[in-house]
Amino acid sequence: MKKLKIVVLAKQVPDTRNVGKDAMKADGTVNRAALPAIFNPEDLNALEQALRLKDAFPGSQVHVLTMGPGRAAEIIREAMYRGADGGYLLSDRAFAGSDTLATSYALSRALDNLEYDLILCGRQAIDGDTAQVGPQVAEKLGLPQVTYAEEIRVINERTLRVRRRLERGVEEVECPAPAVVTVNGSAAPCRPRNARLVMKYKRARATQEAQDASEDYFALVNERPYLKLTEWNVNDIRCETRELGLSGSPTKVKAIENVVFQAKEAKTLSATDGDIDALMKELIANHTIG
Ligand SMILES: Cc1cc2nc3c(=O)[nH]c(=O)nc-3n(C[C@H](O)[C@H](O)[C@H](O)COP(=O)(O)OP(=O)(O)OC[C@H]3O[C@@H](n4cnc5c(N)ncnc54)[C@H](O)[C@@H]3O)c2cc1C
Repeated sequence: MKKLKIVVLAKQVPDTRNVGKDAMKADGTVNRAALPAIFNPEDLNALEQALRLKDAFPGSQVHVLTMGPGRAAEIIREAMYRGADGGYLLSDRAFAGSDTLATSYALSRALDNLEYDLILCGRQAIDGDTAQVGPQVAEKLGLPQVTYAEEIRVINERTLRVRRRLERGVEEVECPAPAVVTVNGSAAPCRPRNARLVMKYKRARATQEAQDASEDYFALVNERPYLKLTEWNVNDIRCETRELGLSGSPTKVKAIENVVFQAKEAKTLSATDGDIDALMKELIANHTIG
């Protein structure tokens, strides 16, 4: 069985579990500086599936592709601490304000620079929450896609078998490779960092991060080229710039409202029929449901 080339699309997202009042800018975009940034949870599940295939097919390679600001290189390091072989940071002001159409366009053009047998991504990002990018990337690359994957097995060089988690249970499907597969949060959790890999890769940097680095750092990179994380800007991908960023984004955020619950809005309910009944009536009356 040949060695697989697997690319994992991973997004650095604001930790929406810690959203404060300055989370959003006036123009409706996320104030990323105000929020701790994390590895999108379901992208970690996708990474684990990739690493399991690498274990199963020795010599296979796993690389992460992420589009974002310079600090998004952090999730490439995070993936390498867990066993990925490296990654690509796609970063340029031209990508700013991208909606899912523009994001998937830029990612698909970057994927044209790479060889791959399989593209894995998370089912959904916890900030935009659209679950659109994976299927859109598949469409733009003309590849088959399988969504809501819980386990991916490679049957042979041309066939994948995927167990999907659906509302009504699980389904097993076969799909020709190469393909795009989106991975569900119900899939196996990602393995932890490996201490040896943390020591090996903790000084890996993308171009933007290394701008103010010392001479010693560049001498170290010469010795250990794997410490140089590949960074691409708009000139490194063949693309129509009008299809990037805000100009390539038909989705216009009309208004954003911060919903920060006040203590007085919380209500403690007992499990009595009366309380449940009263709550249902209230939720119907204020059109939250129904
Ligand atoms: C509150 C909010 C609401 C938004 N609403 C919309 C909307 O309604 N429509 C719209 O078009 N855009 C919307 N956006 C913008 C949207 O977040 C971005 O376009 C984003 O880059 C992709 O959409 P998503 O976050 O929904 O990702 P999803 O489509 O949910 O992501 C699915 C998977 O695609 C991969 N992926 C996504 N983004 C990247 C990336 N930058 N780098 C690498 N892999 C990636 C990851 O594997 C991820 O798990 C919204 C943003 C915010 C913050």
